[in-house]
Amino acid sequence: MTATILDGNALAQKLRADFKTRAEALAAKGTRPGLAVILVGEDPASAVYVRNKVAGCEKASFHSEKIVYPTDVAQDVVLAKIAELNADPKIHGILVQLPLPKHFDSDLVLEAIAPEKDVDGFHAENVGALMQGQPRFIPCTPYGVTKFFEEAGVNLKGAEAVVIGRSNIVGKPMAMLLLAQSCTVTVCHSQSKDLAFHTRRADILVAAVGRPRMIGPDWVKPGATVIDVGINRVDDPAAPKGYRVVGDVAFDEVAPKCRAITPVPGGVGPMTITMLLANTLEAAERSAK
Ligand code: NDP
Repeated sequence: MTATILDGNALAQKLRADFKTRAEALAAKGTRPGLAVILVGEDPASAVYVRNKVAGCEKASFHSEKIVYPTDVAQDVVLAKIAELNADPKIHGILVQLPLPKHFDSDLVLEAIAPEKDVDGFHAENVGALMQGQPRFIPCTPYGVTKFFEEAGVNLKGAEAVVIGRSNIVGKPMAMLLLAQSCTVTVCHSQSKDLAFHTRRADILVAAVGRPRMIGPDWVKPGATVIDVGINRVDDPAAPKGYRVVGDVAFDEVAPKCRAITPVPGGVGPMTITMLLANTLEAAERSAK
């Protein structure tokens, strides 16, 4: 079987071109979509994510603000900034880059973001709306996965879907979205018994674990659509940086069995920031109404 390789870079580029057109049309009517990103501390990976998010905004003609605090900043200072951004009409989306330093109560900080500006979709009100089948903001990574299904014309109705991972950021919202599309959904996690029994039944398999190449060809049903969310660094002395990035799926061995599969890198990854832009644009369009 020749699998369709679901190219996240190409899909992201196509969607971002559309967002830019829509952002410019909205700006012409007086509303430029605006995203504020708060970064606390100096974690290098977080700094890269924030830089890419701000760059994504600029390329799509959005307004963006980056607010950086030192690691030891008081939580109240960040909460006061969020309150200010909640009331700022130039800002339609607010994102606090996680993880926060240990002296922060992350739940409290995320709940301080106005639900109508919570572009990560982590506020309890938005989690509840997704659960009720009336999402306002869909968390960016699973939102991006739904775009692959649309693009590839995957028939989800009645399909057996297996999600490995139950995090609030990926696994749980992914399961809710698949259920909303009338899949029969199984969610697996670290305590699941006989994982392969479940994965072998999957027409749609979403891996969001964080274990390099844990899913081999024996675990995959012929003709399945496989979405690999995992991002794992593995040592590779031959690589320029001394490591390579691989997914949770053994791509080379699994791909020949699949109908469609996302590679790592170049699959789900590029879609996550793209869907942050989508959520910000949608928030701006709603506010303009
Ligand atoms: P978490 O660590 O929050 O969740 C991992 C999940 O995997 C947990 O539910 C855990 O189970 C489960 N798990 C761990 N080990 C096993 C195992 N041996 N068998 C079955 N299940 C297991 O991670 P995230 O959800 O945040 O991220 C998952 C992966 O996706 C990571 O590699 C991350 O880097 C990547 N990621 C990629 C993004 C992208 O843009 N492409 C965005 C976000 C994440 P339990 O709940 O029992 O602990």
